[in-house]
Amino acid sequence: METAWKKYSDEKLKEVMEFVQGYKKFLADAKTEREFTENAIIAAKKKGFRPFNKNEKLKAGDKVYFNNRGKNVALFVIGKKPVEEGLNILGAHIDSPRIDIKMNPLYEDNGLVLMDTHYYGGIKKYQWVAIPLSLHGVICKKDGSSVKINIGEKDEDPVLGISDLLIHLAKDQMQKTAASVIDGEDLNALVGSIPSDSDSKETVKENILNILKKEYGIEESDFISAELELVPAGKPRDFGLDRSMVMAYGQDDRACAYTSLMGILDSEVTDKTVSCILVDKEEVGSNGTTGAHSSFFENCVAEILEATDGNSDLKLRHALENSSLISSDVSMAYDPNYPNVFENKNTAFFGKGISFNKFTGSRGKSGANDASAEYVAKIRKVMDDNNVSCQFSELGKVDQGGGGTIAYILANKNMNVIDAGIPVQNMHAPFETASKADIYEAYQAYKAFLKDMD
Ligand code: MN
Ligand code: MN
Repeated sequence: METAWKKYSDEKLKEVMEFVQGYKKFLADAKTEREFTENAIIAAKKKGFRPFNKNEKLKAGDKVYFNNRGKNVALFVIGKKPVEEGLNILGAHIDSPRIDIKMNPLYEDNGLVLMDTHYYGGIKKYQWVAIPLSLHGVICKKDGSSVKINIGEKDEDPVLGISDLLIHLAKDQMQKTAASVIDGEDLNALVGSIPSDSDSKETVKENILNILKKEYGIEESDFISAELELVPAGKPRDFGLDRSMVMAYGQDDRACAYTSLMGILDSEVTDKTVSCILVDKEEVGSNGTTGAHSSFFENCVAEILEATDGNSDLKLRHALENSSLISSDVSMAYDPNYPNVFENKNTAFFGKGISFNKFTGSRGKSGANDASAEYVAKIRKVMDDNNVSCQFSELGKVDQGGGGTIAYILANKNMNVIDAGIPVQNMHAPFETASKADIYEAYQAYKAFLKDMD
């Protein structure tokens, strides 16, 4: 596989860089599943998408979306053929590893106030201490109102964070293995240190509660019905002296979610109905109402059938089993600092384009969705016909580890599914790195798939 960089004309290179500017801007404002959903809907509306309305009939070219609880969204462009003949679908996840706030988080310890947390997804806990964190999310009150929280992104905002032990006193800690050097229960975020005027026992906590009351109108008990996430503070940045890469929080999987979203937003009407589904909870098993296991997507397809040629249980089953899907999720990029975990004939490299994984899984392909050879052949043709730079890889050496995506969940509906996404370094670290060429090629790949997969 050749690097994509060499095929770009000066003009094309400008286009690549401009596309990635849009990507960086979007990611800066979409650091949680809720923020991503909100911003995806704003972008979709600008491109002529409207919320699905049960009382409306749909025809070819109509563009609609379904918003599932503000954390999961499905978009559709109706095609010329009956929906029963199958859809071309892009599926990506919009949740990322992070540190969630517990339901009863606040406590005071010797004049310091902290928030207790429970981390979300697979993280190396030692990477998340001693860095600036911002607080994002929503607090829902008993009166039905809710307060959006976003603290730590603006220059003038304060940031929060979790302390690490100073090296001077870390003799015992340094003997521990990386897995146990920081205990999950010790990921407590420091949030305040000024006492209030009262002589209550916990005056610093009282002061923090006064601030929360004044600025957000919330009581301590409102944390019970909240979804608050600590994420790395700061915007996506150009990476490298040649600016060829991006470093940002949550590129797993917002790199693929954004490029898939742009793929459908820039889609013309085709024979097939096309769809993009952006799901929550992938990092913790895809369960629940907003995860890929939810019946939300099937329900959407049933609604689309009903609004076009009429729905039936059998038509819905036909629509699903005649569909083709790309599970748009990031892959791992070769890292010269850790060459021993890769087998280079089957490894994704920066700059060589979107990476297709015929299968994922670990230790003997366990848990893998394994795309059929026939489907992979069709994919190769679509990519070649559209001059998309792509590579075909595995997730590291056999028996080194591995991973999974939402691929198998949708394949279980008996549709063709293959994994394909942008290779990243430092996956699941606070800041992940990806190549701009790969981000652009993924966007091209997703557009080509929606247009040409038959
Ligand atoms: Mn992922
Ligand atoms: Mn992940």
